[in-house]
Amino acid sequence: MIAPASAAVTAPITAPAAVTGPRARIDLSALAHNLGVARRLAPHSRTCAVVKADAYGHGMVAVARALPGADGLAVARVSEAIGLREAGIAGPLLVLEGAGSREELLAAVRYGIQVAVHREGQVAWVEECAGLDDRAPLGLWVKVDTGMHRLGLDPGSIPDVLARLGACPGARVLGLMTHLANADNPEDPLSEAQCRRLQALGAGRGLALSIANSAGVLAVAGSRTDWVRPGIMLYGASPLSGHSAADLGLRPVMTLVTELIAVQPLRRGDAIGYGGTWSCPEDMPVGVAAVGYGDGYPRQAPTGTPVLVRGRPCPLVGRVSMDMIHLDLRPVPDACPGDPVTLWGEGLPVEDVAGRAGTISYELLCRVTSRVPREQVTA
Ligand SMILES: *Cc1c(COP(=O)(O)O)cnc(C)c1O
Repeated sequence: MIAPASAAVTAPITAPAAVTGPRARIDLSALAHNLGVARRLAPHSRTCAVVKADAYGHGMVAVARALPGADGLAVARVSEAIGLREAGIAGPLLVLEGAGSREELLAAVRYGIQVAVHREGQVAWVEECAGLDDRAPLGLWVKVDTGMHRLGLDPGSIPDVLARLGACPGARVLGLMTHLANADNPEDPLSEAQCRRLQALGAGRGLALSIANSAGVLAVAGSRTDWVRPGIMLYGASPLSGHSAADLGLRPVMTLVTELIAVQPLRRGDAIGYGGTWSCPEDMPVGVAAVGYGDGYPRQAPTGTPVLVRGRPCPLVGRVSMDMIHLDLRPVPDACPGDPVTLWGEGLPVEDVAGRAGTISYELLCRVTSRVPREQVTA
């Protein structure tokens, strides 16, 4: 006869109370603090907080709700803006790439979303569609290519484009915008040249101007016009080469944490992980932490990339796996499974990890995968 299942086995299955493994702690008070830094640097500008790409991986709706101090929000795509509206976000919303089709333009009208207009085809859609609802006109930002050569209309075409859009009863041009190509390098004269080109186009037209991204807010005086559009600085990372976020008074918003799940007492010469690319130089403890490229930790991170174990730097060793990394535990020889591990954030700037991995903070933040729960805190 088969023994009856024990009570422990037949008890209803519930998820464990405390989540283990990688979590991204999102510090909403740091977010508000960083918005304050941007506001103080551009005291005469209104602030459009950029929350595209799921708020640089921080969770778009939670971030939008935590930024009541922003005068507006910007995203890249119409679908992102609709997501914010459907979540109940009511303030001004701007789509930086503009509408991708006539249908998207009509959706922008319905949802009360502002769009950038950066090419002739988008101008034509406005002429064809925008008259449909002249009670709630579609807000437009005309995007000018002042030197980045990514998106934007040629400066010479602007007078004609403004005249055509001005003749559309269902649309209203709110301003001229442009984007800085090299503002991360404060020495580059292109940034101020781009600002002068936009100022010259706006002169005498009574239109708002919008130029600055985070690097502009921090380092390009001429870009702090009617509206600024900070993104990365709100999340507490520095866009300027040679200046740390802490130097700029910014606080990290995301701290990516996990735990040690194994500690191996290894021997001199033991090879670590896939390909055995690193071997122990002496008898030593090697830790395994539960995070890998399946969570968005960069596979390119080389041996030596800093990681914190119980707050102490312990270098990554060997190759990054999908779900795990190896750590040299000699700096914390009594470390044991369950000990907290920090990949970046509080105590370890994401820019430092990005630099080791040959990328930028933006990419590491954006590519934290959906497997990693975001936990909002306001400490
Ligand atoms: C992403 C973006 C921003 C924000 O840039 P940061 O460098 O993150 O401050 C501003 N403007 C435009 C047009 C963008 O695409």
